[in-house]
Amino acid sequence: MSAQILDGIVFSAEIKEDVKRRVAAMKEQGVIPGLAVILVGDDPASEIYVRNKGKGCEETGMLSRTIRMNAAVTQEELEAEIDRLNRDPAIHGILVQLPLPGHLDEAAALAKILPEKDVDGFHLINAGHLMTGTEGVTPCTPKGALYMIRSTGEDLSGKEAVVIGRSNIVGKPMAMLLLQQNCTVTLCHSRTKNLAEHTRRADILIAAIGKAGFVTADMVKEGAIVIDVGINRVDGKVCGDVDFEKVKEKAGWITPVPGGVGKMTIAMLLSNTADAAERTLKRE
Ligand code: NDP
Repeated sequence: MSAQILDGIVFSAEIKEDVKRRVAAMKEQGVIPGLAVILVGDDPASEIYVRNKGKGCEETGMLSRTIRMNAAVTQEELEAEIDRLNRDPAIHGILVQLPLPGHLDEAAALAKILPEKDVDGFHLINAGHLMTGTEGVTPCTPKGALYMIRSTGEDLSGKEAVVIGRSNIVGKPMAMLLLQQNCTVTLCHSRTKNLAEHTRRADILIAAIGKAGFVTADMVKEGAIVIDVGINRVDGKVCGDVDFEKVKEKAGWITPVPGGVGKMTIAMLLSNTADAAERTLKRE
């Protein structure tokens, strides 16, 4: 039987509707949530992401500001801009579009963002909150992936969850979120031995590798929830890390690429920005 499709277009529309309603309520109290995106250089992929973020803000009634900086900008200039945005009361969320040009220190730039304005959830303070299960900002992609997993209605407690990929922005936070759901989590990476032995046990399988079609049907358990985070370009076409056509005949649920997790990432960014603005309102 063919898997049920976890449709990122439908779920992200749901989240954006909720954000729109919350933004309207804040506007009645005189606050317009604002998201600032710092874009360094002119990487075409980053340009597309930044444009989509701006579009998301517009759709939900938020203020969006894009700060474009020359590829040759210095660390000091970049950090001074972050400081300015930290102090700006009209800005509730700050995002530095990654990757930065090689001469810049990404970790130092991210550390400059006020944790409460760090809507990407990459600041060490927010990483610490996720690790300890306390309230902080959760990274958008794993948060969006978890939303899709929960939409299946399955009881996640005690399920075997296998995450392939251990990056700080996807794999590790994903593993933490699944642990919080009481899953038994296995985190795999390029040094994992006998990878398929792990993935075949997975009731929930997350692929965040960056290799087109890497996860094949023989690596997947019958009826599993398969979440494809990968975004790869092959012959000009976007595809994921999962061999979608074959795996969908075996999985219980599966996310497509495009139209899957990627849509959720932007929706969660908007949601995190609305959360940040609501926190400011509460403090005032
Ligand atoms: P990274 O390159 O930072 O991490 C990739 C991970 O995959 C690493 O942990 C690496 O292991 C692991 N890996 C590589 N080869 C293998 C292998 N043969 N077997 C097992 N594990 C392997 O990527 P990201 O986490 O940033 O992104 C992963 C994918 O998700 C990319 O395609 C990216 O474009 C996409 N992405 C999508 C988003 C969305 O919104 N949908 C958002 C962010 C990313 P090791 O650590 O040992 O090197």
